[in-house]
Amino acid sequence: MKKIFWLCTLFIMTEFACKKTENSPIDKESIEKEISLSGGNISLPGVASVDFVQGTFSNNVKVKLSKTKSQDVREDMQNVSLLYDIIEEFNYEIRINTKLLPDKMIKVTIDVPDSFISRVSGDYGLNAYGKFNFSDSLESIQAFNVLDTKFYGNRKNLEVELSPLYFSNKWTSDQSFEVIITIGISLGKNPSVGGIMKNCCDDSKLTCPLDNCVVSREFSSVPVTWPMDPNIKKPHRGVDYKGITGEPVYAAHNGEVIEVGNHGSTGWGKYIVIRHKTPTCYYKTLYGHLSRQLVTEEQKVFRGDKIGEVGQTGGATGPHLHFEYYKINSPSPSGSKFDTRDPLQCIVPYSKVRIVIPVCVSGCLGFVGIGREYRYKLYDEATTNIVLDTTIKVTNFVPYPACTTPTPDLLEIRLPAGTYVAELRYGNIVYTGFFGSRFQVVPGLNPCQYVIIS
Ligand SMILES: [Zn+2]
Repeated sequence: MKKIFWLCTLFIMTEFACKKTENSPIDKESIEKEISLSGGNISLPGVASVDFVQGTFSNNVKVKLSKTKSQDVREDMQNVSLLYDIIEEFNYEIRINTKLLPDKMIKVTIDVPDSFISRVSGDYGLNAYGKFNFSDSLESIQAFNVLDTKFYGNRKNLEVELSPLYFSNKWTSDQSFEVIITIGISLGKNPSVGGIMKNCCDDSKLTCPLDNCVVSREFSSVPVTWPMDPNIKKPHRGVDYKGITGEPVYAAHNGEVIEVGNHGSTGWGKYIVIRHKTPTCYYKTLYGHLSRQLVTEEQKVFRGDKIGEVGQTGGATGPHLHFEYYKINSPSPSGSKFDTRDPLQCIVPYSKVRIVIPVCVSGCLGFVGIGREYRYKLYDEATTNIVLDTTIKVTNFVPYPACTTPTPDLLEIRLPAGTYVAELRYGNIVYTGFFGSRFQVVPGLNPCQYVIIS
Protein backbone atom coordinates (compact mmCIF):
# COMPACT_ATOMS: atom_id res chain seq x y z
CA MET A 1 0.00 0.00 0.00
CA LYS A 2 2.83 2.35 0.93
CA LYS A 3 4.36 1.58 -2.44
CA ILE A 4 1.24 2.59 -4.34
CA PHE A 5 0.95 5.81 -2.38
CA TRP A 6 4.53 6.66 -3.08
CA LEU A 7 4.29 5.94 -6.78
CA CYS A 8 1.20 8.16 -6.98
CA THR A 9 3.00 10.93 -5.16
CA LEU A 10 5.87 10.69 -7.58
CA PHE A 11 3.42 10.70 -10.46
CA ILE A 12 1.75 13.87 -9.24
CA MET A 13 5.11 15.55 -8.70
CA THR A 14 6.19 14.63 -12.21
CA GLU A 15 2.98 16.02 -13.62
CA PHE A 16 3.41 19.19 -11.63
CA ALA A 17 6.90 19.52 -13.01
CA CYS A 18 5.53 18.97 -16.48
CA LYS A 19 2.88 21.69 -16.12
CA LYS A 20 5.38 24.07 -14.61
CA THR A 21 7.67 23.48 -17.58
CA GLU A 22 5.09 24.86 -19.96
CA ASN A 23 4.83 28.08 -18.01
CA SER A 24 8.58 28.51 -17.68
CA PRO A 25 10.25 31.13 -19.81
CA ILE A 26 11.45 29.47 -22.98
CA ASP A 27 14.20 30.81 -25.16
CA LYS A 28 13.20 32.54 -28.40
CA GLU A 29 15.37 30.10 -30.34
CA SER A 30 12.66 28.02 -31.91
CA ILE A 31 11.20 27.05 -35.25
CA GLU A 32 7.80 25.67 -36.21
CA LYS A 33 7.10 23.75 -39.39
CA GLU A 34 4.41 21.51 -40.84
CA ILE A 35 5.51 17.94 -41.43
CA SER A 36 3.46 16.10 -44.01
CA LEU A 37 2.56 12.43 -44.31
CA SER A 38 5.54 11.92 -46.58
CA GLY A 39 7.92 13.04 -43.85
CA GLY A 40 10.44 15.85 -43.70
CA ASN A 41 12.97 17.62 -41.63
CA ILE A 42 12.95 20.48 -39.18
CA SER A 43 16.15 22.24 -38.36
CA LEU A 44 17.34 24.91 -35.97
CA PRO A 45 20.81 25.86 -37.24
CA GLY A 46 23.57 25.34 -34.71
CA VAL A 47 21.20 23.54 -32.34
CA ALA A 48 19.64 20.42 -33.82
CA SER A 49 17.76 18.94 -36.72
CA VAL A 50 15.03 16.32 -36.59
CA ASP A 51 14.29 13.83 -39.38
CA PHE A 52 10.87 12.30 -39.88
CA VAL A 53 10.61 9.42 -42.34
CA GLN A 54 7.49 8.82 -44.42
CA GLY A 55 4.61 7.66 -42.23
CA THR A 56 6.00 9.05 -38.99
CA PHE A 57 2.70 10.88 -38.50
CA SER A 58 -0.76 9.77 -39.56
CA ASN A 59 -1.61 13.27 -40.81
CA ASN A 60 -0.02 16.63 -41.50
CA VAL A 61 1.12 18.09 -38.20
CA LYS A 62 2.92 21.17 -36.93
CA VAL A 63 6.17 20.37 -35.16
CA LYS A 64 8.05 22.87 -33.06
CA LEU A 65 11.73 22.53 -32.28
CA SER A 66 13.22 24.80 -29.63
CA LYS A 67 16.30 25.30 -27.58
CA THR A 68 15.06 25.67 -24.06
CA LYS A 69 16.30 27.15 -20.84
CA SER A 70 13.73 25.59 -18.59
CA GLN A 71 14.57 25.36 -14.90
CA ASP A 72 12.93 21.92 -14.77
CA VAL A 73 15.27 20.50 -17.35
CA ARG A 74 18.14 21.92 -15.33
CA GLU A 75 16.83 20.14 -12.23
CA ASP A 76 16.32 16.92 -14.17
CA MET A 77 19.90 17.05 -15.38
CA GLN A 78 21.13 17.62 -11.85
CA ASN A 79 19.21 14.55 -10.75
CA VAL A 80 20.76 12.61 -13.60
CA SER A 81 24.19 13.61 -12.36
CA LEU A 82 23.32 12.15 -8.96
CA LEU A 83 22.58 8.84 -10.57
CA TYR A 84 25.35 8.73 -13.12
CA ASP A 85 28.98 9.55 -13.00
CA ILE A 86 28.72 12.82 -14.88
CA ILE A 87 31.24 15.58 -14.46
CA GLU A 88 29.05 18.26 -15.91
CA GLU A 89 25.43 18.33 -16.89
CA PHE A 90 25.15 20.05 -20.20
CA ASN A 91 23.32 23.37 -20.05
CA TYR A 92 21.91 22.76 -23.45
CA GLU A 93 18.50 21.33 -23.93
CA ILE A 94 16.16 20.99 -26.84
CA ARG A 95 12.43 20.35 -26.98
CA ILE A 96 10.24 18.85 -29.66
CA ASN A 97 6.51 19.56 -29.54
CA THR A 98 3.95 17.84 -31.74
CA LYS A 99 0.18 17.28 -31.66
CA LEU A 100 0.47 13.80 -33.12
CA LEU A 101 2.22 10.74 -31.83
CA PRO A 102 5.05 9.49 -34.01
CA ASP A 103 4.64 6.01 -35.46
CA LYS A 104 8.22 5.68 -36.66
CA MET A 105 11.67 6.20 -35.23
CA ILE A 106 12.62 9.88 -35.09
CA LYS A 107 16.24 10.76 -35.61
CA VAL A 108 17.52 13.86 -33.86
CA THR A 109 20.95 15.21 -34.74
CA ILE A 110 22.19 17.56 -32.07
CA ASP A 111 24.97 20.00 -32.92
CA VAL A 112 27.41 19.95 -30.06
CA PRO A 113 28.88 23.39 -29.31
CA ASP A 114 32.64 23.77 -29.76
CA SER A 115 33.08 24.52 -26.07
CA PHE A 116 31.97 20.97 -25.35
CA ILE A 117 33.71 19.30 -28.27
CA SER A 118 37.04 20.56 -26.97
CA ARG A 119 36.42 18.78 -23.69
CA VAL A 120 35.42 15.49 -25.24
CA SER A 121 38.64 13.57 -25.36
CA GLY A 122 40.35 10.58 -23.86
CA ASP A 123 38.19 9.08 -21.21
CA TYR A 124 35.28 11.45 -21.65
CA GLY A 125 32.18 11.24 -23.77
CA LEU A 126 28.70 12.64 -24.28
CA ASN A 127 25.32 11.13 -23.79
CA ALA A 128 21.73 12.26 -24.07
CA TYR A 129 18.89 11.94 -21.61
CA GLY A 130 15.25 12.43 -22.45
CA LYS A 131 11.84 12.88 -20.94
CA PHE A 132 8.51 12.40 -22.66
CA ASN A 133 5.32 14.09 -21.54
CA PHE A 134 1.79 14.52 -22.75
CA SER A 135 0.73 18.06 -21.98
CA ASP A 136 -2.86 17.41 -21.04
CA SER A 137 -2.64 14.07 -19.31
CA LEU A 138 -1.07 12.56 -16.27
CA GLU A 139 1.18 10.48 -18.42
CA SER A 140 4.83 11.18 -17.97
CA ILE A 141 6.33 8.34 -19.95
CA GLN A 142 9.40 8.02 -17.85
CA ALA A 143 11.81 9.84 -15.63
CA PHE A 144 14.67 11.63 -17.33
CA ASN A 145 16.37 8.62 -18.83
CA VAL A 146 19.26 7.52 -20.98
CA LEU A 147 18.49 7.66 -24.71
CA ASP A 148 19.87 5.58 -27.51
CA THR A 149 22.68 7.80 -28.75
CA LYS A 150 25.68 7.71 -31.04
CA PHE A 151 28.52 10.16 -30.78
CA TYR A 152 31.37 10.17 -33.26
CA GLY A 153 34.25 12.23 -31.91
CA ASN A 154 35.30 13.35 -35.38
CA ARG A 155 31.85 14.74 -36.14
CA LYS A 156 30.40 17.57 -34.20
CA ASN A 157 27.05 16.04 -33.55
CA LEU A 158 25.28 13.57 -31.36
CA GLU A 159 22.71 11.32 -32.98
CA VAL A 160 19.70 10.43 -30.86
CA GLU A 161 17.11 7.86 -31.90
CA LEU A 162 13.66 8.22 -30.38
CA SER A 163 11.65 5.05 -30.67
CA PRO A 164 7.85 5.26 -31.03
CA LEU A 165 7.86 2.62 -28.29
CA TYR A 166 8.54 5.44 -25.86
CA PHE A 167 4.86 6.27 -26.23
CA SER A 168 2.07 4.13 -24.94
CA ASN A 169 -0.17 3.07 -27.83
CA LYS A 170 -3.34 3.81 -25.87
CA TRP A 171 -2.92 7.45 -26.80
CA THR A 172 -2.82 7.05 -30.57
CA SER A 173 -6.49 7.87 -31.18
CA ASP A 174 -6.48 11.05 -29.11
CA GLN A 175 -5.16 14.06 -30.99
CA SER A 176 -5.91 16.73 -28.42
CA PHE A 177 -2.65 16.53 -26.53
CA GLU A 178 0.82 17.73 -27.21
CA VAL A 179 3.81 15.41 -27.07
CA ILE A 180 6.84 17.06 -25.48
CA ILE A 181 10.24 15.46 -25.85
CA THR A 182 13.00 17.07 -23.86
CA ILE A 183 16.62 16.14 -24.38
CA GLY A 184 19.59 17.10 -22.26
CA ILE A 185 23.20 16.19 -22.79
CA SER A 186 25.83 15.17 -20.31
CA LEU A 187 29.59 15.12 -20.36
CA GLY A 188 31.18 12.39 -18.32
CA LYS A 189 33.77 9.69 -18.06
CA ASN A 190 33.70 6.74 -20.44
CA PRO A 191 33.93 7.76 -24.12
CA SER A 192 31.47 5.21 -25.47
CA VAL A 193 28.56 5.96 -23.22
CA GLY A 194 29.13 9.47 -21.96
CA GLY A 195 29.16 9.23 -18.26
CA ILE A 196 27.09 6.18 -17.50
CA MET A 197 29.16 4.53 -14.88
CA LYS A 198 26.90 4.16 -11.90
CA ASN A 199 24.27 1.76 -13.13
CA CYS A 200 24.73 -0.16 -9.93
CA CYS A 201 25.87 0.90 -6.53
CA ASP A 202 29.64 0.61 -6.61
CA ASP A 203 29.79 -2.59 -4.64
CA SER A 204 26.22 -3.84 -4.78
CA LYS A 205 27.29 -7.23 -6.22
CA LEU A 206 23.83 -8.76 -6.22
CA THR A 207 23.55 -12.50 -6.42
CA CYS A 208 20.76 -14.19 -8.32
CA PRO A 209 17.67 -14.57 -6.09
CA LEU A 210 16.83 -18.14 -7.18
CA ASP A 211 18.83 -21.36 -7.20
CA ASN A 212 18.77 -21.34 -10.95
CA CYS A 213 18.25 -17.98 -12.63
CA VAL A 214 16.95 -18.25 -16.19
CA VAL A 215 15.67 -14.97 -17.64
CA SER A 216 12.25 -15.24 -19.26
CA ARG A 217 11.66 -11.51 -19.79
CA GLU A 218 14.20 -8.73 -19.85
CA PHE A 219 14.19 -5.27 -18.35
CA SER A 220 12.84 -2.42 -20.50
CA SER A 221 12.60 1.23 -19.50
CA VAL A 222 10.52 1.94 -22.60
CA PRO A 223 6.97 0.54 -23.01
CA VAL A 224 6.81 -3.01 -24.32
CA THR A 225 3.85 -5.35 -24.82
CA TRP A 226 2.48 -6.54 -21.49
CA PRO A 227 1.99 -10.33 -21.44
CA MET A 228 -1.23 -9.97 -19.41
CA ASP A 229 -2.86 -7.89 -22.17
CA PRO A 230 -1.25 -7.61 -25.62
CA ASN A 231 -3.15 -4.33 -26.18
CA ILE A 232 -1.22 -2.63 -23.41
CA LYS A 233 2.35 -1.50 -23.57
CA LYS A 234 4.31 -0.43 -20.53
CA PRO A 235 7.88 -0.44 -19.30
CA HIS A 236 9.08 -3.66 -17.68
CA ARG A 237 11.02 -2.27 -14.78
CA GLY A 238 12.53 -5.52 -13.64
CA VAL A 239 13.69 -8.84 -14.93
CA ASP A 240 11.59 -12.03 -14.89
CA TYR A 241 13.14 -15.32 -13.88
CA LYS A 242 11.59 -18.68 -14.70
CA GLY A 243 10.43 -20.47 -11.60
CA ILE A 244 8.04 -23.01 -10.19
CA THR A 245 5.54 -22.35 -7.42
CA GLY A 246 7.06 -22.98 -4.01
CA GLU A 247 10.67 -22.63 -5.16
CA PRO A 248 12.77 -20.67 -2.63
CA VAL A 249 13.50 -16.97 -3.26
CA TYR A 250 16.68 -15.62 -1.65
CA ALA A 251 17.79 -12.12 -0.65
CA ALA A 252 20.13 -10.81 -3.36
CA HIS A 253 22.31 -9.05 -0.78
CA ASN A 254 22.41 -8.13 2.91
CA GLY A 255 19.78 -5.61 3.92
CA GLU A 256 16.66 -4.72 5.82
CA VAL A 257 13.16 -5.72 4.74
CA ILE A 258 11.22 -2.48 4.38
CA GLU A 259 8.01 -3.68 2.72
CA VAL A 260 6.02 -6.89 2.76
CA GLY A 261 2.90 -6.13 0.77
CA ASN A 262 0.31 -7.08 -1.79
CA HIS A 263 0.20 -4.92 -4.87
CA GLY A 264 -3.10 -6.32 -6.18
CA SER A 265 -4.25 -8.43 -9.08
CA THR A 266 -2.54 -6.53 -11.91
CA GLY A 267 0.65 -5.56 -10.12
CA TRP A 268 3.41 -7.43 -8.34
CA GLY A 269 0.94 -9.45 -6.22
CA LYS A 270 2.63 -10.51 -3.02
CA TYR A 271 5.96 -8.72 -2.93
CA ILE A 272 8.92 -7.92 -0.68
CA VAL A 273 11.24 -4.90 -0.80
CA ILE A 274 14.69 -4.99 0.79
CA ARG A 275 16.78 -1.88 1.37
CA HIS A 276 20.53 -2.36 1.01
CA LYS A 277 23.35 -0.08 1.97
CA THR A 278 26.88 0.06 0.62
CA PRO A 279 29.57 2.48 1.78
CA THR A 280 28.73 4.77 -1.15
CA CYS A 281 25.01 4.51 -1.77
CA TYR A 282 21.69 2.93 -0.96
CA TYR A 283 19.55 0.77 -3.17
CA LYS A 284 16.50 -1.47 -2.99
CA THR A 285 15.51 -4.81 -4.48
CA LEU A 286 11.96 -5.98 -5.07
CA TYR A 287 10.68 -9.56 -5.36
CA GLY A 288 7.21 -9.93 -6.91
CA HIS A 289 4.44 -12.48 -7.67
CA LEU A 290 5.39 -14.53 -4.59
CA SER A 291 3.21 -17.34 -3.27
CA ARG A 292 4.61 -16.96 0.25
CA GLN A 293 6.38 -14.12 2.09
CA LEU A 294 8.60 -15.49 4.87
CA VAL A 295 10.00 -12.26 6.33
CA THR A 296 8.54 -9.30 8.20
CA GLU A 297 9.14 -5.56 7.87
CA GLU A 298 12.28 -4.29 9.63
CA GLN A 299 13.80 -7.78 9.60
CA LYS A 300 17.52 -7.88 8.80
CA VAL A 301 18.48 -10.39 6.14
CA PHE A 302 21.71 -11.66 4.69
CA ARG A 303 22.50 -12.54 1.13
CA GLY A 304 21.10 -15.95 0.36
CA ASP A 305 18.55 -15.98 3.20
CA LYS A 306 15.29 -17.53 2.07
CA ILE A 307 12.74 -14.69 2.10
CA GLY A 308 9.81 -16.18 0.19
CA GLU A 309 8.61 -18.61 -2.42
CA VAL A 310 7.95 -18.23 -6.14
CA GLY A 311 4.30 -17.86 -7.13
CA GLN A 312 1.88 -16.35 -9.60
CA THR A 313 0.15 -13.67 -7.51
CA GLY A 314 -0.71 -10.32 -9.12
CA GLY A 315 -0.39 -9.74 -12.86
CA ALA A 316 1.43 -12.88 -13.94
CA THR A 317 0.65 -15.32 -16.75
CA GLY A 318 2.53 -18.12 -14.98
CA PRO A 319 4.70 -18.70 -11.93
CA HIS A 320 7.88 -16.64 -12.08
CA LEU A 321 9.91 -14.18 -10.04
CA HIS A 322 9.76 -10.50 -10.99
CA PHE A 323 12.94 -8.89 -9.67
CA GLU A 324 13.61 -5.13 -9.56
CA TYR A 325 16.59 -3.03 -8.63
CA TYR A 326 16.23 0.60 -7.55
CA LYS A 327 19.15 2.84 -7.11
CA ILE A 328 18.48 5.44 -4.44
CA ASN A 329 20.76 8.03 -2.98
CA SER A 330 19.36 8.51 0.45
CA PRO A 331 18.57 6.13 3.29
CA SER A 332 14.94 7.23 3.33
CA PRO A 333 13.01 5.69 0.44
CA SER A 334 10.19 8.22 0.69
CA GLY A 335 12.45 11.23 0.51
CA SER A 336 14.87 10.10 -2.14
CA LYS A 337 15.35 10.10 -5.84
CA PHE A 338 15.02 6.62 -7.19
CA ASP A 339 15.38 4.90 -10.45
CA THR A 340 14.85 1.33 -11.57
CA ARG A 341 17.82 -0.21 -13.34
CA ASP A 342 18.39 -3.38 -15.22
CA PRO A 343 19.20 -5.75 -12.35
CA LEU A 344 21.16 -7.99 -14.70
CA GLN A 345 23.84 -5.31 -14.88
CA CYS A 346 24.29 -5.49 -11.13
CA ILE A 347 24.24 -9.25 -10.70
CA VAL A 348 27.59 -10.93 -10.28
CA PRO A 349 28.49 -14.63 -10.41
CA TYR A 350 28.89 -16.36 -7.11
CA SER A 351 29.97 -19.56 -5.48
CA LYS A 352 28.00 -21.65 -3.08
CA VAL A 353 30.55 -21.97 -0.35
CA ARG A 354 29.97 -24.66 2.27
CA ILE A 355 31.28 -24.06 5.74
CA VAL A 356 31.48 -26.75 8.36
CA ILE A 357 33.03 -27.23 11.77
CA PRO A 358 34.02 -30.90 11.91
CA VAL A 359 33.73 -32.49 15.32
CA CYS A 360 36.78 -34.60 14.83
CA VAL A 361 39.86 -33.77 12.79
CA SER A 362 42.54 -36.32 11.81
CA GLY A 363 42.08 -38.82 14.58
CA CYS A 364 40.35 -36.34 16.85
CA LEU A 365 43.00 -33.71 17.07
CA GLY A 366 41.10 -30.43 17.36
CA PHE A 367 38.05 -31.97 18.95
CA VAL A 368 34.96 -29.79 19.11
CA GLY A 369 32.27 -30.55 21.65
CA ILE A 370 28.89 -31.60 20.30
CA GLY A 371 26.16 -29.13 21.18
CA ARG A 372 28.41 -26.08 21.09
CA GLU A 373 27.09 -23.01 19.30
CA TYR A 374 29.57 -20.78 17.54
CA ARG A 375 28.87 -17.28 16.29
CA TYR A 376 30.35 -17.05 12.81
CA LYS A 377 31.05 -13.60 11.35
CA LEU A 378 32.42 -13.25 7.85
CA TYR A 379 33.99 -10.10 6.38
CA ASP A 380 34.83 -9.07 2.85
CA GLU A 381 38.55 -8.42 3.20
CA ALA A 382 38.61 -5.62 0.60
CA THR A 383 35.71 -3.57 1.96
CA THR A 384 35.61 -4.91 5.56
CA ASN A 385 31.82 -5.17 5.14
CA ILE A 386 30.19 -7.93 7.16
CA VAL A 387 28.78 -10.41 4.65
CA LEU A 388 27.44 -12.91 7.15
CA ASP A 389 26.68 -13.03 10.85
CA THR A 390 25.14 -16.28 11.98
CA THR A 391 25.50 -19.20 14.36
CA ILE A 392 26.78 -22.66 13.56
CA LYS A 393 25.62 -25.32 15.96
CA VAL A 394 27.63 -28.49 16.15
CA THR A 395 24.92 -31.09 16.61
CA ASN A 396 26.31 -34.11 14.82
CA PHE A 397 29.50 -36.04 14.73
CA VAL A 398 31.06 -34.81 11.49
CA PRO A 399 34.39 -36.45 10.77
CA TYR A 400 37.06 -34.76 8.67
CA PRO A 401 36.83 -34.42 5.67
CA ALA A 402 33.34 -33.27 6.46
CA CYS A 403 31.98 -31.66 3.32
CA THR A 404 31.12 -34.95 1.70
CA THR A 405 28.94 -35.94 4.65
CA PRO A 406 25.44 -34.49 4.46
CA THR A 407 24.77 -32.82 7.77
CA PRO A 408 22.51 -30.08 9.06
CA ASP A 409 25.63 -28.43 10.49
CA LEU A 410 26.88 -27.64 7.02
CA LEU A 411 26.35 -23.95 6.30
CA GLU A 412 25.90 -23.07 2.65
CA ILE A 413 26.36 -19.43 1.65
CA ARG A 414 26.51 -17.49 -1.60
CA LEU A 415 29.58 -15.35 -2.11
CA PRO A 416 30.81 -13.31 -5.08
CA ALA A 417 34.47 -13.38 -6.06
CA GLY A 418 36.74 -12.03 -3.37
CA THR A 419 38.72 -12.83 -0.26
CA TYR A 420 36.85 -13.39 2.94
CA VAL A 421 37.92 -13.43 6.56
CA ALA A 422 35.99 -15.15 9.35
CA GLU A 423 35.80 -14.61 13.07
CA LEU A 424 34.38 -17.20 15.46
CA ARG A 425 33.02 -16.66 18.96
CA TYR A 426 32.20 -19.17 21.62
CA GLY A 427 31.02 -17.50 24.79
CA ASN A 428 33.63 -14.86 25.56
CA ILE A 429 36.32 -16.51 23.46
CA VAL A 430 37.03 -14.93 20.08
CA TYR A 431 38.91 -17.00 17.54
CA THR A 432 40.69 -15.40 14.57
CA GLY A 433 43.41 -16.66 12.28
CA PHE A 434 42.25 -20.28 12.61
CA PHE A 435 42.36 -22.84 9.83
CA GLY A 436 39.66 -21.84 7.33
CA SER A 437 39.40 -18.30 8.67
CA ARG A 438 40.59 -16.72 5.43
CA PHE A 439 39.62 -18.00 2.02
CA GLN A 440 39.25 -16.94 -1.57
CA VAL A 441 36.14 -17.38 -3.64
CA VAL A 442 36.27 -18.05 -7.36
CA PRO A 443 32.81 -18.02 -8.98
CA GLY A 444 31.76 -21.36 -10.36
CA LEU A 445 33.83 -23.39 -7.94
CA ASN A 446 31.89 -24.47 -4.88
CA PRO A 447 34.50 -25.12 -2.24
CA CYS A 448 34.06 -26.48 1.21
CA GLN A 449 35.74 -24.51 3.97
CA TYR A 450 36.66 -26.35 7.12
CA VAL A 451 36.71 -24.28 10.22
CA ILE A 452 39.26 -25.92 12.46
CA ILE A 453 39.97 -24.51 15.86
CA SER A 454 42.17 -26.17 18.38
ZN1 LIG B 1 8.14 -8.94 -14.60
